[in-house]
Amino acid sequence: MTLGNKNLITNYSSAKYSWLKSGGTIKHLYKVYKKNDLSNLFSRSEIKSKPLLVIGNLSNTLINDEGFKGTAIKLLGDFANVQIKSDHMLVGAAVLDNYLSKFCFQNNISGYEFLFTIPGSIGGNIFMNAGCYNQEIKDKLISVIYFDINDNKIYEKNISELNFDYRRGFQKSNTIILYGKFKITLGDKISIKNLMKEYENIRNRTQPQKVNCCGSIFKNPVNQSAWKLIKTSIDKSFYNGPIKLSKIHSNFFENEPNISAKSIELFISKIQKRVSDKHKITLEKELRIIA
Ligand SMILES: Cc1cc2nc3c(=O)[nH]c(=O)nc-3n(C[C@H](O)[C@H](O)[C@H](O)COP(=O)(O)OP(=O)(O)OC[C@H]3O[C@@H](n4cnc5c(N)ncnc54)[C@H](O)[C@@H]3O)c2cc1C
Repeated sequence: MTLGNKNLITNYSSAKYSWLKSGGTIKHLYKVYKKNDLSNLFSRSEIKSKPLLVIGNLSNTLINDEGFKGTAIKLLGDFANVQIKSDHMLVGAAVLDNYLSKFCFQNNISGYEFLFTIPGSIGGNIFMNAGCYNQEIKDKLISVIYFDINDNKIYEKNISELNFDYRRGFQKSNTIILYGKFKITLGDKISIKNLMKEYENIRNRTQPQKVNCCGSIFKNPVNQSAWKLIKTSIDKSFYNGPIKLSKIHSNFFENEPNISAKSIELFISKIQKRVSDKHKITLEKELRIIA
């Protein structure tokens, strides 16, 4: 049995759906609703032998202008559910951060307020070890359940076996993150709501809103803030043009829709060069650029 054509989208426009509103086309995107879809799909050698790309909510991804011609996966269906078990939550990789945060509020579960303001999916969070306000997804995780395309099997790894670090989560090649098992700590509903509001207010105050962007462009180097390094290295020209630094937060850029991926990459390289010339520090990209 093979995955039918209804599960395949050809020439999927990443520019239409990504937070950057830019980026190339994904030639073959397979929508995967349940575990069996995966085993069926990756039993086909022509699918398995190509480079793999899993997309989440495309809030941290730029596909280059040539597009992606391998096997791309979008999880939906069973992977978009949250289930409360006796001592943990089983959260599908396709669940959006904002949804999980609200779900936790409704069920008096504290600790997930920070996710209210991150525009990604749980799969993307686990891949990136996303975080803000001194919290990271790894602090909440018990284990990661993933599919390995090489042997067509599902595995579970405890967080203690994984080397999560600042903005580097579960990045094992040829794997698809399916679920996270998350801790449950009960809390007070009003305090949970207040914290969600507080985080939202901080974000509205300190970051640009309603613009095409990818969040932070660069990771913060150890004991340094990327925004300060950038601000002290560039001139006014970086705040003008179809792609420009945000005046509210200089580790954010804002771009016009459908600007080429190449021009975004060039802009990023120009910032890196300025910072390197001035501070002798190489900024590492947080944004994932897919070649
Ligand atoms: C306005 C704005 C604010 C942001 N603020 C923050 C912030 O405060 N903190 C923070 O950490 N990030 C922030 N980000 C960045 C982004 O939201 C996070 O990195 C998020 O975790 C990405 O999730 P996503 O689902 O959009 O992933 P995508 O962009 O779709 O993918 C990111 C990477 O994860 C991989 N991936 C996604 N799903 C899976 C899966 N199921 N299995 C295997 N690999 C997968 C992709 O292949 C890709 O390499 C922000 C972005 C924006 C636009």
